[in-house]
Amino acid sequence: MLPAEPADAAARRSRPLTICYPVESLPKPDMAMLGRARQDLTKIEEVVVAPRDAEAFRVQAGQFFRIVGVDGPQVGDLNLWNAHDLSERFFSGKTRQLHATHVSTGDRLWSSLPALRPLATITHDTLAWYGIDADGGAVHDVIGTRCDPYTNRLLSGGDYHQCCHSNLTRALAKAKGLPVTEAERHVHDVLNVFMCTGFTRGTHQYFMKASPVRPGDYIEFFAEIDLLGALSACPGGDCSATHSSDAAACYPLRVEIYRTEPELLAGWASPPASAYPRTHGL
Ligand SMILES: [Zn+2]
Repeated sequence: MLPAEPADAAARRSRPLTICYPVESLPKPDMAMLGRARQDLTKIEEVVVAPRDAEAFRVQAGQFFRIVGVDGPQVGDLNLWNAHDLSERFFSGKTRQLHATHVSTGDRLWSSLPALRPLATITHDTLAWYGIDADGGAVHDVIGTRCDPYTNRLLSGGDYHQCCHSNLTRALAKAKGLPVTEAERHVHDVLNVFMCTGFTRGTHQYFMKASPVRPGDYIEFFAEIDLLGALSACPGGDCSATHSSDAAACYPLRVEIYRTEPELLAGWASPPASAYPRTHGL
């Protein structure tokens, strides 16, 4: 039974809200400069990610990369690391706090402490038209973690080896020549590319619904530092019904890497790690 409401319950519920972080002071990307730079892109590499598998890719600072829908609606789980230091990796939770539950053009993917710097800036998103739907759903979330065999075992009792967590682990192990258990420790919470998610109104439970992605849709990033990435084509396919099994229709995803003309990036510099001295009051 719920405890009794106080007499001033309504007043307590109607207090004004405050956005947690004053994002006006967040260093802004130069979107005008990036907009000009992305007008002159030359594709230098393409990586196809097979359904229910993952592939790693490398992007140099100052290059662009796109994640592209190919044959059908497919969700991707993205991990990013500093190419020279796997301990610096995408920080989904802080990215969510600094921007929102879902990210799009102009938002940045921030790295873990103690570096806390932008790894990448989103420079184009062909699904930006989707906005927030009537269920509160939106695309490209930084809420969910990644499907994994441990949660699957907890909930279903079985073992499934093509969850995004396992796919990303295999891709990183291969890219870095690491034993699988060592690679696994570097896999982290993802950007859920193309996934449509939200929280239910009544209970605030995490929900998913069919991704609106069409073949040819893409999300484009500018690499702020040298990156190692890994992308999993989730076994949930469009994530309309199920994941962590072979039940859903799944399609490949493509990662495209582009360079731009260096003079178009005049004035841009790769961001340094946070200057906080790490003394923590001692
Ligand atoms: Zn998945």
